[in-house]
Amino acid sequence: MANEKKPEKDIVQALRLLDERIKTAAARSGRSPESVVLMAVSKFHSLDDIMAAYHAGIRLFGENRVQEAEKKFGELELEGCSLHLIGHLQRNKAKKAVKLFDCIQSVNSMSLVEELAERSQEAGKVTDILLELHTAEDTKNGFPDADSLFAALERALGFASLRVRGLMTMAPFVQDKAAIRASFVACRKAYEKAKDLFKAENFDTLSMGMTNDFELAIEEGSTLLRIGSAIFGARL
Ligand SMILES: *Cc1c(COP(=O)(O)O)cnc(C)c1O
Repeated sequence: MANEKKPEKDIVQALRLLDERIKTAAARSGRSPESVVLMAVSKFHSLDDIMAAYHAGIRLFGENRVQEAEKKFGELELEGCSLHLIGHLQRNKAKKAVKLFDCIQSVNSMSLVEELAERSQEAGKVTDILLELHTAEDTKNGFPDADSLFAALERALGFASLRVRGLMTMAPFVQDKAAIRASFVACRKAYEKAKDLFKAENFDTLSMGMTNDFELAIEEGSTLLRIGSAIFGARL
């Protein structure tokens, strides 16, 4: 972990500020602040930082690599805490991922759906997943369009070992707010359409919004923010 230790009080302070901004954005959009869950993205950050966030009340963490997550969270027993995978998952790491994560947000292909279903069944587990929609030119992961995502969603709903909780997307890393908003709108529309089409139980999660764009994401209906830098500081 390349990052130097961040004083615990900085993380507490950062979370307080973030909480205010989330409440303000929710109010502006006529939403209750409770309808938006905050995930702390702890990739590249140390166990000390994770513990500081936990003590400050965070109960949901996100990591984007199986190996790093295993190293940091493998032995850790944080009561009431969940861990999500938010980065691209290779099929050969699906078994480990099913063991380690409460939810895999970055499911981006039919073959990964099938692999995760099989591994979850072997493990005697029901795994929560989100399907990732590709909505930005400068990002690479995700189903290329809503139709391919819906086909995988239909398949996933046929497996008792998977519980499809919703969709996830990443907006482009640009200053142009209209381009960011267009990404979020595309994902929200696919999410609403999927709700209508499949009427699946527990389909309640729209994961959108990072440090630079979470206020727009809240305005566009996000129910889960994935925030790293605004909590832990810049990644080195
Ligand atoms: C790193 C990462 C985040 C958090 O990014 P910040 O800009 O630090 O808030 C969110 N989602 C995904 C998929 C990521 O890889």
